Amino acid sequence: MVGTPATPASKIQRTPSSTPGGSKVREEKILVTVRIRPLSRKEQALYDLIAWDCPDDHTIVFKNPNQERPATAYTFDQVFDPTCSTQRVYEEGAKNVALSALMGINATIFVYGQTSSGKTFTMRGITENAVKDIYEHIKNTQEREFILKISALEIYNETVIDLLNRESGPLRLLDDPEEPLWKIVEETIKDSQHLRHLIGICEAQRQVGETALNDKSSRSHQIIRLTIESTLRENSGRVKSFLASLNLVDLAGSERASQTNAGGTRLKEGSHINRSLLTLTTVIRKLSGGKRSGHIPYRDSKLTRILQHSLGGNARTAIICTMSPALSHVEQTKNTLSFATSAKEVTNNAQVNMVVSDKNLVKHLQKEVARLEAELRSPEPSASCLKTLLMEKNLKIEEMEREMKELKRQRDIAQSQLEQERKAHKEQKVQRNQCGPSSQVARCLSFPVEDEPCKDKHTPETRQRNVVGRQAMIRQSTTSTDPSMLVHEIRKLEQLQRQLGEEANRALEVLHKEVASHRMGSQATTETLAKMLSEIKDMQVVNSVPEEIVIGDKANLKEEITRLNSQESTIASLERKLDMFRNL
Ligand code: ADP
Ligand code: MG
Repeated sequence: MVGTPATPASKIQRTPSSTPGGSKVREEKILVTVRIRPLSRKEQALYDLIAWDCPDDHTIVFKNPNQERPATAYTFDQVFDPTCSTQRVYEEGAKNVALSALMGINATIFVYGQTSSGKTFTMRGITENAVKDIYEHIKNTQEREFILKISALEIYNETVIDLLNRESGPLRLLDDPEEPLWKIVEETIKDSQHLRHLIGICEAQRQVGETALNDKSSRSHQIIRLTIESTLRENSGRVKSFLASLNLVDLAGSERASQTNAGGTRLKEGSHINRSLLTLTTVIRKLSGGKRSGHIPYRDSKLTRILQHSLGGNARTAIICTMSPALSHVEQTKNTLSFATSAKEVTNNAQVNMVVSDKNLVKHLQKEVARLEAELRSPEPSASCLKTLLMEKNLKIEEMEREMKELKRQRDIAQSQLEQERKAHKEQKVQRNQCGPSSQVARCLSFPVEDEPCKDKHTPETRQRNVVGRQAMIRQSTTSTDPSMLVHEIRKLEQLQRQLGEEANRALEVLHKEVASHRMGSQATTETLAKMLSEIKDMQVVNSVPEEIVIGDKANLKEEITRLNSQESTIASLERKLDMFRNL
């Protein structure tokens, strides 16, 4: 490094080793480098001479062949001689500025020079390397989510064309400060492969115009804009995102601007005058003279309007000036170096662009709305709906189990009462059996089991068996947990009771006849018999119940159990009365 006085000390801060960050405004001069290409075949064929020398990495000197005057030296941030690779030009002349866009700082890389000086060649290499590094950075920054978008345009004769949508025709710049300058197609990039593919489309589109109009590429400007937004993945509530754009600008040939004086005031009319390039030169010269507060004619051209922030505004800017080393181009090259010298005095005020939003909350709400909408559209019950139904069902089952327990408890009480009554009844029977009724009465008092006819059961053993069977049946019915079973058993008991009543009737009639035939009856006995007969009839009326019992209705079931209890006692009392008769 040559410590020439022309190298400003402020430039040393320009390529920070650490990543830029924070929202502080940083004053920084435009990074200006010069790249000298090798002599072209054409130049070599014409035995052109190399007119420039590079004593060090920052200086370029015009080799005065006549040695009449001292060589003029130009100093820049970096001077790349013809042997330098594009990789090195990128590393030292563009990388830091370009990658600032990953941290929310707008960045612009220009290539400036005369036609055939190597602008497009250099910009291709810069773009390729930048894409590689951007995706390398994304890969190594897993904690952040990146969204990349691309748009591209061409300015030719002050007409702006969307390179990703050429068919849409010339774009109209909008004047609303709240809106973007134009309505342009912005493609969201999937990956590095996709980005390279889209850049290829832009290049192809530019070449389409070139073949249609001779020498168009030297008169048009191409801008590829990458918009990079990044957000921390782990975030709750308010989200801070970095948002910045990287402009890659391949300018028209600088010879188009050389037909004016240094101040850009004497403009020649005609198609060869490139308004955008001229205005760019004027803007740079004014800014380099420290006239930031004065009028800067950004609005005089489309290019300066579009890139206003990159020229003395909120952006980091790098300009790579390309030049031919040939003596035949010395005048054009001097113009380029003069422009470059002005450019290096321009100060920008770059800052981190932070977008603060309740993004996560918005995302969450959007998801919720989408889910509810889908639920409304779908005729099928959703999973959450089914879950609620299942919970309700479970609660119902629990409630039913509790009620069932209570019913069982009541049934057990009824059963034990029944057992007690049975016991008492049996004891009475044992006493009665010492003096039994006539065989005819006994025959009529035998209980049929299930549906078997009465006449088949004659013996006392059978009768005893039937009584045991009935008890077992009652026990079974009361221990059963099935409500329909209980009702069924109650019905059987009723049937038995009816039969009992009928048998009692028949037994009374037989007794009546026996008493009458043996002339053993007295007035008192006849009255007693008549009273008993009417009592039995009353009982039958009282005990008849409605046929319809709603199975499964728990309230009805409880009533039935209670009724069953009372019927059992009625049966017992009936049997007791009959036994009394037997004892007459
Ligand atoms: P411009 O875009 O400025 O008009 P180009 O980039 O088209 O110029 O370059 C003109 C020619 O010079 C192209 O054939 C290109 O390949 C070649 N060229 C430019 N720069 C270099 C370089 N640094 N090394 C080798 N060839 C170069
Ligand atoms: Mg070109």
